[in-house]
Amino acid sequence: MKLRLPIIASAILLAGILSGFQKNDKVRFLKGNMHTHSYWSDGNTYPEEVAKWYRDHGYQFLAITDHNLLQKGIRYRVSGKDSVRLKELSELCTGFDKEGEFLLLPAEEITDAAEKRPVHIGAFNLSEAVKPTGGATVPECLNSNVKAIRQALANSGNPEWIIVNHPNFGWGLTADDLAKCGARFFEIFNGHPSVRNYGDSAHPSTETMWDQANKWRIDHSEPLLLGVANDDAHQYDKYEIGKANPGRGWTMVRAGELTPAALYESLAKGDFYASTGVVLEDFRAHKNTMTIRIKAVKGIQYKTEFVGWVHGQDHADVLATVTGPKAVYKAAGNELFVRARITSDKSKANAYVNGDFEMAWVQPVTLR
Ligand SMILES: [Zn+2]
Ligand SMILES: [Zn+2]
Repeated sequence: MKLRLPIIASAILLAGILSGFQKNDKVRFLKGNMHTHSYWSDGNTYPEEVAKWYRDHGYQFLAITDHNLLQKGIRYRVSGKDSVRLKELSELCTGFDKEGEFLLLPAEEITDAAEKRPVHIGAFNLSEAVKPTGGATVPECLNSNVKAIRQALANSGNPEWIIVNHPNFGWGLTADDLAKCGARFFEIFNGHPSVRNYGDSAHPSTETMWDQANKWRIDHSEPLLLGVANDDAHQYDKYEIGKANPGRGWTMVRAGELTPAALYESLAKGDFYASTGVVLEDFRAHKNTMTIRIKAVKGIQYKTEFVGWVHGQDHADVLATVTGPKAVYKAAGNELFVRARITSDKSKANAYVNGDFEMAWVQPVTLR
């Protein structure tokens, strides 16, 4: 008896640990692009070619976000005398979805405008397309579209998976618009050459707007705005700077399953990062500490900047800069939020603009 009990106890313990490991083993980073186009709108290829490109380039999930429609019903691609019926999303899913390996998400880019400025919003897991609402002003247009998407998602029992697209495209949206629109996500990076991620002398970059929007959200006890990276690919034939090609920006979601529910749960928790090439091993925010571990490539240098908004300041600052594969930030206690931006010295291939380096962005958190 003396011997058996410990053996049984050890067996139970071992089984527990193993099952624990097995469970944890399933949690991994899933690579996805949540913004791209096909012949269903203004992309320059068939939707199956789009899905194939992403599947063959190591992505686990993809949303083909054509303008103001879902890929449903009968539509033809007419070119000269040729007319080809486009595959619907359900047909694409049959051909491409593979459990644990690849998943296509139903999605639409609601494409609207007000005051001659574009207002574009990605909506996910809709069962019917949402019609753009219009609006007299940009904030009205943005807010009424977000409201219409929320309603449609609520009607189909799905969570509020809404991404505000490329705020600086056509100088469409301001930080104030982003702050007050109610959406949880926006594109910190979009790979389309016309979107002006970095702003200009008269307009703030998407990063600056992100921080300004989150300052407002903290002050108003609203959930923080989170930043994804997307391609917004339209062109799949010629690959060069200046073309809207795939492969420029993506989002790495840490999840245990490749399902819309699991992806959304992690997105909503901020358990993801945006990337244009830098791969992270891990990132954690625990109590007053944020830790970043980079999957370093030999010969490449990495710089992690912890960007935060200190109480009483009127702008965000780089609060600390760390070089190397591991970066730790301990909060002083007066930061409203802190996020991390990692920049490598590896040039981005077929970049959004010439001179870009591979980067990653970790979501803002409040450290206490
Ligand atoms: Zn757009
Ligand atoms: Zn688009």
